[in-house]
Amino acid sequence: MTEIAHHIPDEILVAYAAGTLPQAHAVVVAAHISLCAECRAALAAHEAVGGALLEVEKEEAVSEDLRNRLFDMLDAPAPVEPAPPRRNGIYPGPVAALLGPDGQAPWKSLGFGVKQAILRDTSEDSLRLLYIPAGRAMPEHGHNGLEMTLVLQGSFSDEEGRFGRGDVEIGHDALEHTPVADPGPDCICLAATDARLRFKSLVPRLLQPFFRI
Ligand SMILES: [Zn+2]
Repeated sequence: MTEIAHHIPDEILVAYAAGTLPQAHAVVVAAHISLCAECRAALAAHEAVGGALLEVEKEEAVSEDLRNRLFDMLDAPAPVEPAPPRRNGIYPGPVAALLGPDGQAPWKSLGFGVKQAILRDTSEDSLRLLYIPAGRAMPEHGHNGLEMTLVLQGSFSDEEGRFGRGDVEIGHDALEHTPVADPGPDCICLAATDARLRFKSLVPRLLQPFFRI
């Protein structure tokens, strides 16, 4: 396996740990983390800090009523943890969990050998798989907010560099780029996009260190 060169920026890991990322982007982060020990360790550190902060808040805020309810909950049977999703071929567990019961992606042709499979599409965010034959450019798609693209197979290159399996490119509509799939295995990517007003204030903050906006 080749070394991962493009990771999840710290700001996005923090947002992921805090649960404030749109669902589509959270899946991309989870999928990257399942492939990347480095980001897994960084996330664990963020979660430890977040957990410690939560503990402090809890100590100050626990009322008698809440304390009683917590004790009631302790008596209740523990909820059954769902089994972690299992990896399926090139698809990490968090992606495999979104595929159909047959484990296949719902591919639709976009022409010229390019395909996409939409895994999630809401007014807030969308998540799709893109299949780009080697040597072809990625289709242009409109987006307003934060775009995250994770490579699952093959690789692509653009003005920002080369992205292979496990690499994540963080895009923004301020960024002009034309990704082209490299020669070799056809490129399969997982792409999360959003066009959410709520996100507008968060995005510049998240992207500031990277795009100087
Ligand atoms: Zn990483």
